[in-house]
Amino acid sequence: MLGPRLMYLDPGGDMKRIIAALAAAAACAVPASGLAAAMPACHAHSVFAIAVHGGEITAKVDGSKRLPIMAAALALARQQLSHGARSIDVVEEVVRIFEDSGAFNAGRGAIADSVGLVETDAAVMDGNGMRAGAVGSMTNLKNPIVAARLVMHANRHVLMVGDRGQAYAIRLGAVQVPRSYFIYNHDVTRPAVPMHDATDHAEHGTVGAVALDRCGHLSAATSTGGYDAKIPGRVGDSPLVGDGVYAADDTAAFSGTGWGEYYIRYNITKDAADRMRYGHETLDRAMQDELFRILKPLHADGGLIGVDRKGNVGLYYNSVGMFRGYATDREAPVVAEYTGITHSKPRSAQ
Ligand code: ASP
Repeated sequence: MLGPRLMYLDPGGDMKRIIAALAAAAACAVPASGLAAAMPACHAHSVFAIAVHGGEITAKVDGSKRLPIMAAALALARQQLSHGARSIDVVEEVVRIFEDSGAFNAGRGAIADSVGLVETDAAVMDGNGMRAGAVGSMTNLKNPIVAARLVMHANRHVLMVGDRGQAYAIRLGAVQVPRSYFIYNHDVTRPAVPMHDATDHAEHGTVGAVALDRCGHLSAATSTGGYDAKIPGRVGDSPLVGDGVYAADDTAAFSGTGWGEYYIRYNITKDAADRMRYGHETLDRAMQDELFRILKPLHADGGLIGVDRKGNVGLYYNSVGMFRGYATDREAPVVAEYTGITHSKPRSAQ
């Protein structure tokens, strides 16, 4: 049923079981932070959309675990959004599912730094009110994305880092786990990879989700273990607002994956939103300009997913591939790893 490159979700057989398991785990749109809005459900509009990524890749990697998880998470998210769930709850929940799966470079499956230890980064942003929360260099958190949401909700600071930041997140309710929880935590020293060689590392696997809900609100979430064999203490773009994550109700929501240092230097997600806000570019054009006119000439590999306020979806990358997928009120979930989808059908043409 599922092709290796591009698959359309047919919720039958195995997929049905995966969806049921995810649905049970997700407890019907209640994110793990427990913050699922004491807000009324969204029913103002019929349009909604969700896009996800499971990391940009610079060489072919085995995606047999990732694609079904992404397809099932999209099916669940689509169901939740159609029933009026808030985009901020849905992106948190989808990323938490990816973190728990162990199949991505995030949460349980995060890859280790040069001394063999896992350090994770994550962020969420709510385009409704421009609120954000983020954590960097977390060593013992089960779900960095949940910690980011708790930081956002506490509403005092945006970014908490290191041991003391982690202690604060735990006080807010983030679940602590021993280092042995992480599959790739080996406590083994490996040579740190100089950044100019970093593109030799095919395996990224950062995860992200962006969504438009039926209230018209946009949200984004990104979570990562960072670069393989990074120097301890290195924080990439993923937890930085405007770099690896951005959402604003007047334009779009974005999540990035790729060579983080370039996303930081060029403020890739904020720049994409500004192209739309001030340059009146379309979502597709803005994303392609970032990836092909800015990053590609710098030999910086990268990918972006985005959804705009009209419900258009873009999924672009400038390297070998990107695990990606989307669903909208009109289109059932689709996922791909290499060639295939780059955007949803323009709404004006539907
Ligand atoms: N952007 C992530 C980082 O630099 C890595 C990735 O997406 O693969 O930490």
